Amino acid sequence: MNDENTTVHAERLATTDVDGNRIYVHPEDVRGKWRDRRTLLYWTLVLIYFTLPWIHYGGKQIILLDIFNREFVFFGRTFFSHDSPLVFFLFLIFVLIFGFITAQWGRIWCGWACPQTVFIDLVYRRIEKFIEGNSRKRRSLDKEPMSVSKFFKKVAKWTLFTLVSLHLAHTFLGFFVGTRNLFFISLNPPTEHMTLFIIMLTTTGIILFDFGWFREQFCIVACPYGRMQSVMMDEHSLVVAYDVKRGEPRRNTVPRSDEADCIDCNHCVKVCPTGIDIRKGTQLECISCTQCIDACDEIMGKIGKPEGLIRYESLAEIEGIPRKTVRPRPMIYATALLITVLAFGHALHSRNSLKVQFIRSSQSAFQDIKRPDGSREIVNHYKVSIYYNGEQNYKLFFVPKDKYREERLRIVSRRIPAPIHPGKRKTIDIFFRFKKDVLEMGRKTLKVHILTGDNLESAKFLREEEVKLVGPF
Ligand code: SF4
Ligand code: SF4
Repeated sequence: MNDENTTVHAERLATTDVDGNRIYVHPEDVRGKWRDRRTLLYWTLVLIYFTLPWIHYGGKQIILLDIFNREFVFFGRTFFSHDSPLVFFLFLIFVLIFGFITAQWGRIWCGWACPQTVFIDLVYRRIEKFIEGNSRKRRSLDKEPMSVSKFFKKVAKWTLFTLVSLHLAHTFLGFFVGTRNLFFISLNPPTEHMTLFIIMLTTTGIILFDFGWFREQFCIVACPYGRMQSVMMDEHSLVVAYDVKRGEPRRNTVPRSDEADCIDCNHCVKVCPTGIDIRKGTQLECISCTQCIDACDEIMGKIGKPEGLIRYESLAEIEGIPRKTVRPRPMIYATALLITVLAFGHALHSRNSLKVQFIRSSQSAFQDIKRPDGSREIVNHYKVSIYYNGEQNYKLFFVPKDKYREERLRIVSRRIPAPIHPGKRKTIDIFFRFKKDVLEMGRKTLKVHILTGDNLESAKFLREEEVKLVGPF
């Protein structure tokens, strides 16, 4: 914050000046229990982000969103493009979890787990501090005219930002291309993988722009979740709130024990990464990062007042009304979430891993042919469409359920056993060759067993399908 806006104006955004120009926020450092908790969580999340795409399970990356090959792996389970209806459930679960968390604990995601907050706080701002100094020095550097020293500081900062952004972009792409794959791709010249190279550069550019420069403006003007949070919350949702009853009227001297506690030191404003004054009430810009809580607690400690003038509490509690944790809004989210999770589990469980469809050939319904020995035989030609979305390769055999002697009914195909591969569709031609008396009144419903194995003798039963055979009446 610049000096002018430690007094935040009501009529404009805290991060814009009187002419509408952006005020670049340089929040001051803060110490305290909330800061320590956040730092611990941030490092944990960063560790997960960087290690997750390198973990493999069952020969596959533990999370892989291979859009090019339309194959998606989640913790050992593989999904293919035709599983896209399941994505609807996942999206709904994701939205409902956010709804429930927001209704109960406010905008905790933004301040504690959002990748933008985590990386800006843990990496980008630390680089900035390392090169340009603390927040006071950074603010004054921004105001200085360009000089050789300022130029080199800015170049050094943006060079490091770019290197970090490149690393983040490669890790991000690792979730889509596969980290091992990406490693070998990156050893080749970019011209051999031009599309991927452009995607990588674009991702790096977006990260650099957002984490390096745009920062809190994204939360304020672009984040859809930030826009919607107010409809998900009520007065019993937890927020970072200023206790007006305890703090007002403010005074700029150390208050006596019977006086209100806020000494108007503006420390809570100076540490805020979105540049707001929480004493003006809950605001759209507040990302619940709790920096102002630690800042104010530090001041309260110094002036001998109890901590918690700014605290993480519901607005109802701030007003002295007990907080209701069980109430309609979160319960609606929780119920809808439970139903969706159950429906998703059911859809996942009943997902047909092998789809086999017998489609009669578009040529004539049957052929009546003469065999070399002079006997006659009816032939029905089917196309069998096979789709398999399991995990391993299979060989399929097709045999009639009822035992027929070889010369009375045969299933003939050059493609049996049919090798099938996960996520691949295959169509094979199958011919049912049989004696006319197999039919009854020119028809017969034949039950076909589908088996899998290396050879017919040891093959295991998978399922039964029905095929309509026809011939002369
Ligand atoms: S840090 Fe606390 S005492 Fe200082 S201005 Fe903010 S609320 Fe008032
Ligand atoms: S008001 Fe407090 S909790 Fe909200 S963004 Fe600013 S510092 Fe973080």
